[in-house]
Amino acid sequence: MQYYSLNNKAPKVSFQDAVVKGLAPDKGLYFPEDIKSIDTSFFKNIENYSNNDIAYELIKQFVGDEIPTNTLKEIIADVLSFDFPLVEVEKDIYSLELYHGPTMAFKDVGARFMARCLSYFNKKNPNQVTVLVATSGDTGGAVASGFLGVKGVDVVILYPSGKVSDVQEKQLTTLGKNIRALEVDGVFDDCQAMVKKAFLDTSITDEIQLTSANSINIARWLPQMFYFAFAYKQLKTSFRAESRNKKLVFSIPSGNYGNICAGMMAQKLGLPIDLFIAATNENKVVPTYLETGVYEPKTSVQTISNAMDVGDPSNFIRIEKLHDNDFEKLKNNLHSYSFTDNQTREAMLKLYNNHNYIADPHGAIGYLGIKKYLENNKAQCIFLETAHPIKFLPVVDQKIAAKIEMPEQIKSVLGKEKVADQISLYPELKAFLLNK
Ligand SMILES: *Cc1c(COP(=O)(O)O)cnc(C)c1O
Repeated sequence: MQYYSLNNKAPKVSFQDAVVKGLAPDKGLYFPEDIKSIDTSFFKNIENYSNNDIAYELIKQFVGDEIPTNTLKEIIADVLSFDFPLVEVEKDIYSLELYHGPTMAFKDVGARFMARCLSYFNKKNPNQVTVLVATSGDTGGAVASGFLGVKGVDVVILYPSGKVSDVQEKQLTTLGKNIRALEVDGVFDDCQAMVKKAFLDTSITDEIQLTSANSINIARWLPQMFYFAFAYKQLKTSFRAESRNKKLVFSIPSGNYGNICAGMMAQKLGLPIDLFIAATNENKVVPTYLETGVYEPKTSVQTISNAMDVGDPSNFIRIEKLHDNDFEKLKNNLHSYSFTDNQTREAMLKLYNNHNYIADPHGAIGYLGIKKYLENNKAQCIFLETAHPIKFLPVVDQKIAAKIEMPEQIKSVLGKEKVADQISLYPELKAFLLNK
């Protein structure tokens, strides 16, 4: 598969180059040149396939012959070594729990897949790569865990001091080996700005190969297609036969719009999804755009669903491309709603009190998206539960928090000692990268 830049001013590249570069030289996002749908019989018979087979079927055209079939299957098996349960919360409303991986956020699958691809390319052609990433919380932990011990890859994570939860901080500062954490005296936007500057700084990029590990990277973005197919398989085989001819709607708590965009790619391959809901917090560029037709990026505001505090979602341009840059077509496939912190807290309480379900703030917003849609429509709906509530304890009601058991994955990092270098200005980052 060839990938081209959505800015159209850079040469086409292979899967490997797109993964290693992250972003095209013209600063555009890479996009697959030619997407082939999968035979409808595959989705009709999806219950006969294992998760690993489904993943392989969905991803194979995007990797092409650049990773041998057996190796790619091994990578998939290794990446998907945990469960993705679909849980019925109310009649025809389901939660797809994507938090059973090592760092308990959905980003684990993409981070692990990307790390293993880089590791494979590195064996063929040893060349040290530095993954440089800014995090508002969950990305850092998933990337640290996914890349730990991968030969040929150094990881440098910038995070805003005092702005990530204790669990999140431990997850990204305690692993050691090839993972280094930089604690930045500032907010997430400062971290992000420094990272962007480093990618443009030839005095750094002439010396070391930098790549990104957020959802602009195709190897982190595309594996997220798997979730939607796993959910569909479970819905088809385990739940309410009487609902099977109802519409199927997914509600995705969205920040950078990578996860939802992967769902739309799965739909493009033939997965029968009728509609997407992008549910978000007060950072509402997309809901406003769908309402007014005016796309206006904003500086992000802080909320209790902080992984979605994004004012200018990177992947939205890919979503437009998937809808042929046709606004009407997009509006027929995507609805989007924004919710306040108070509504989010109320939804968490209601889910617990009425349905005995503990959601994190992001999942709760996904649920709210569905409730809003169902006011005027009928459908079977799935919301994505993108993180374990333990990661957001300070914003979960105390009564609920007391009921959450500490998972093994979290327990094991909490006792470890934090190691981070403190920085506040760009020259410090630069010196760090050039001297590490
Ligand atoms: C990253 C993240 C999101 C947002 O996902 P995008 O792909 O950036 O839209 C939602 N919830 C949680 C818990 C996250 O970590």
